[in-house]
Amino acid sequence: MRVEQLGEGEPEVAVVGGIHGDEPCGVRAVEAVLDARPAVERPVKLVVANEAAAAAGQRYLDVDLNRSFPGDPDGEGHEHRLAYDLLAELRGCTTLSMHSTQSYAGPFAIFEGVGPLARAACPHLTLDAVVDASAFTEGRLIAHHPETVEVECGRQGSPGAARNALRLVGEFLAAAGARPADGGWLDANRALAGDSSTGGSDARGPSDGTASTEDFEPPTSTECATTPSERPPAAKPPAAKPPAAEPPEGRGARPSDPNPTGTRSGGTPETGESTPTAAAGGGSAARGSSEEGVPVYRLVHAIPKPAATTYEVFVENFTRVATGEAFAAVDGEPLRAEEPFYPVLLSPYGYETVFGYAAEGAGRLDGR
Ligand SMILES: [Zn+2]
Repeated sequence: MRVEQLGEGEPEVAVVGGIHGDEPCGVRAVEAVLDARPAVERPVKLVVANEAAAAAGQRYLDVDLNRSFPGDPDGEGHEHRLAYDLLAELRGCTTLSMHSTQSYAGPFAIFEGVGPLARAACPHLTLDAVVDASAFTEGRLIAHHPETVEVECGRQGSPGAARNALRLVGEFLAAAGARPADGGWLDANRALAGDSSTGGSDARGPSDGTASTEDFEPPTSTECATTPSERPPAAKPPAAKPPAAEPPEGRGARPSDPNPTGTRSGGTPETGESTPTAAAGGGSAARGSSEEGVPVYRLVHAIPKPAATTYEVFVENFTRVATGEAFAAVDGEPLRAEEPFYPVLLSPYGYETVFGYAAEGAGRLDGR
């Protein structure tokens, strides 16, 4: 684990990359900040978490670090000990933790419950969505260090994810008062230019290893009563079964239709990158949408993936899937939604045993 600092004093703000060794975006962002050493108004801790896994070009060495919190100083696995050490480093620090995904190019945040930190931080961050992953956080940093803003920065290994990561660091530091909100921020093209040294390729495919490569691996059968006994039998194509109703949460949230048009903010569909204005560190998030705030989705259940040779996904994440719509296929056999749902972290090969998650709309985070 590499731990560095900007500014003097005991940091109460931290930025973490490389919890997963095969997700270079956060590492590149941290390294770019360390190279540029921008002036800060509060001390900031900068961490590259799983250096050993990154050096090996692997997600982890022994076990998934983001399934291993709170960790164990005497644990057998590298990541068991690292989880313990990382938690100790982050104690007292409001933290940004950066990941990337196979499922979606734009940036989104993941919390265990949408609490005060989510409401305070998200309005300052350029995000397409906020995901409440409350039912799926066992062993994850967000469960054991709730002062964490976890972000998925884009597609694993892509230049866009690295640029999004660097921009999110700037926005997060501004939100935390560690740098002026109206000050300039690192130019991503310059700061990230020519840096391909941190591992990962730009196009990781389905055959890049045996381990799942997504960040919210489904619980095993011993951990969660909802799987797999409630899954449809493998012989029959499974279908999503979100709850019939989408009750509004508190705080006046509107149920459903968080993003019915599929428009998303501040980026192009291909790259998920934000606009140059946002990349330059403008204070306001470039959501580019007429809607207020950022849509919130609550994970409801995993969408199982029976053993097969080929998998396809036909739908966009965060875009509502209608009843009867074919959202995926297993060996060419389409899976149709039994009820409407929002796909989250859905991809053909990101997970071993599930396509991803079905979510319900949970309103919007207005924040300001
Ligand atoms: Zn990750």
